[in-house]
Amino acid sequence: MPVWRRSLAISLLRWFRKSARDLPWRRTRDLYAIWISEIMLQQTQVATVIPYWERFMSRFPDVQNLAAAREQEVLKLWEGLGYYRRARQLHLAARQIAAQHNGAFPMSLAEVRSLPGIGRYTAGAILSIGLDQRLPILEANTIRVLSRLTGYRGDVGTTAGQRHLWSIAEAILPRRQCGAFNQALMELGSEICTPRSAQCNLCPVMELCQAHRDKAVDRIPLPAKRTNYEEANEVAVVIRHRGRVLLRQCQSGERWAGLWDFPRFAAPGEQQNGSLGRHIRSEVRRLTGFEIQTKSRLVTIKHGVTRFRITLDCYEATLLRGARQTTSCQSEPIRWVAPRLLGEYPLSVTGRKISRLLTEKQPTRGSQVQSA
Ligand code: SF4
Repeated sequence: MPVWRRSLAISLLRWFRKSARDLPWRRTRDLYAIWISEIMLQQTQVATVIPYWERFMSRFPDVQNLAAAREQEVLKLWEGLGYYRRARQLHLAARQIAAQHNGAFPMSLAEVRSLPGIGRYTAGAILSIGLDQRLPILEANTIRVLSRLTGYRGDVGTTAGQRHLWSIAEAILPRRQCGAFNQALMELGSEICTPRSAQCNLCPVMELCQAHRDKAVDRIPLPAKRTNYEEANEVAVVIRHRGRVLLRQCQSGERWAGLWDFPRFAAPGEQQNGSLGRHIRSEVRRLTGFEIQTKSRLVTIKHGVTRFRITLDCYEATLLRGARQTTSCQSEPIRWVAPRLLGEYPLSVTGRKISRLLTEKQPTRGSQVQSA
C-alpha cells in the first residue's frame, strides 16, 4: 500500500505539472481568490465561472472590499450563476472575516470551517491549494476517481460510503504538494476519468487502477439515485403604470431571496374555484397591496430549478388603484422601475428574460421561451 500511494502521488503530480489547465485562480495562492473560485465552482462549470470570477475579483479584490459592499451589488455580480445562497453566504462570511480577523482570511481549519457556506470540502480545498496544508478533499470528481482507483463498489451517496471515501482521500495524501495533489485528482476526474467514457488509455495512473484491472470502470461508482422531477405551473405579472413596471424583492425563504422579480406566484390548482384572472388579482393584492387589471399573456417560459420543471406564464397588467410611487426607502420590497433601468437590478433568471422582452423589440404575444 505505501508503494501504491507513493506511485499514485508521483504519477499524478508529474501529469498535473504537464497537463493542468491554465485557470485564472490557479495563478495565485491568495486564499481569498481561491475561496471565491471554490464557491463559484460549486454546481457550476469551469467555463461558466471564469468570466464571473474575473469580474468579481476586479470589483472586490479583497475581503475588505467585499465586506463593505451592499448585498444587492454582490447579487448583481452573481446574477446568472444561480444558487444565490452561495453569494449571500460569501458576503456574510466576508463580513465575519472583516470583523473577527481584521480582513485577513483565516489559516486554521477550525476558523475557516466556522465561516458561513464553508464545509469540509471547501475548507480543505482553500487551505491545501493556498497553503499546502495536508487536508483531504472530496467532491463529485474525486468521489468518482477514488471509487474507481480503489474499486469501491459501495453506495457513495450514503454516510458510510462518504466516510469510507473521506478516509481514502486522507490516507493517500502525500507529505508535500497536497494542494497540487488534490487539484490533480479533481483535474483527472474532470478531464480523463469522466462519468461516461473514461479515457483510461490516457490516464497517468491506469496501472494503479482497480476498476480498470477488473474491467468494471462503467459500473463504478454505482449510479446516483435518479431525481424525481416535479412539474409546477407558475404565473408572473408585469404591472405597468406611467411608463414603469413593478418589481418586488424576493424575501427570505423564497426561491430567489434578495433578488428582484416581477410579482410571481403559483398558478391556480385544478381544485381552486374561480377564474385565472381572479386568482392573479388576488395574488398580486396579497404580494403588493395593489389592484390591477390583467391584460394579455406576454410569454410562457419553461425552466428548471432544482427538482422542479416550471412552466411560467407571464401576463401583462395595468394598475387600477393603490399606486405607490417610486420610493426612496431602501428597505421597500417593491419598486416602480423604468424598463431601461431594469439592468441595474439583480433579477431572477426568468425576471431577466422578461425584462429583455420589455426592453428589446416587442415579442409576439403569447410566444414561448425555453430556458435551461
Ligand atoms: S484508469 Fe480509467 S477508471 Fe481508472 S482512474 Fe484512470 S481513467 Fe479512471
